[in-house]
Amino acid sequence: MRNSHKNENARRVRELTVVPELPDLEVAKNILNRTLSGLTIDEVEVGSPILLRRPTAEIFETTLNGSSIREYMRYGKFLNFHFEPPAQLYINFMLAGRLRLQSPSDPKQKKMGFRFKLENGLDLRYLDARNMGKIYLLLKEESTALIPNYDEQGPDALDPQLTLDVFCRRIKRFNAVIKHVLVNQRFIAGLGNAYADEILFIAHVMPFRKRSTLTDAEIAALYNATKSVLQNAITTITARIGDTLQFEVRDFLQVHGKGGEPCPNCGSPISSVKSGLRVANFCRKCQI
Ligand SMILES: [Zn+2]
Repeated sequence: MRNSHKNENARRVRELTVVPELPDLEVAKNILNRTLSGLTIDEVEVGSPILLRRPTAEIFETTLNGSSIREYMRYGKFLNFHFEPPAQLYINFMLAGRLRLQSPSDPKQKKMGFRFKLENGLDLRYLDARNMGKIYLLLKEESTALIPNYDEQGPDALDPQLTLDVFCRRIKRFNAVIKHVLVNQRFIAGLGNAYADEILFIAHVMPFRKRSTLTDAEIAALYNATKSVLQNAITTITARIGDTLQFEVRDFLQVHGKGGEPCPNCGSPISSVKSGLRVANFCRKCQI
């Protein structure tokens, strides 16, 4: 009894670990631009070389040592640093990537992708408890075609040019179940498991419906929910984390991670169904 209780707790903790998605990275990008742009990097160190996909650790360190970070950008689930002299760093955070500001004298973490000692006296570190993130450095004018699957991404989910019309035309190219379409970065870029659950809940659509069964009204509802859910999450996370880069807050979500709890609309218990490696949370009454 005691053991199964323990296992249940461990499962919940695992599920509640925040896997970075568009809102988290958008807020991180804004914080970095507000607090750390224009700074020179006084020292560069690559930690776990498995995280660095290109080029070598040696080229990474010699290229970036002494350069300055001009701007931070984001596309889908990639965060992108622009340097002067020109070079670009792309980070795909995957399941557990984190950026942390620390003192250079803090002990170095085992699973650290890189460390930039900045001219303001702080270390900006990329940490990755699961060692699954992917870091790419493009030199000078090298193209993003060197980053696997990058150029194949659809428009960023926040892109103003992603209109309802564009969304409708693009979604009709995909025939999987709707939740799988939403998290497919080739459809639109930036959504993962958590926000796909939220969008489907707000749009009243069941996650396992085949895309081809959706009406135009349901597709429009998904479009509107995509924009509103992401925007609301960005506003909430921004207000909650200040300048800390600690985007560990997801308790404001309505159904994701809340299996068994009452649905905020109708009060019936939220369902939790494992589909492949992901858990889908949804309400059987509110979503059809
Ligand atoms: Zn409900």
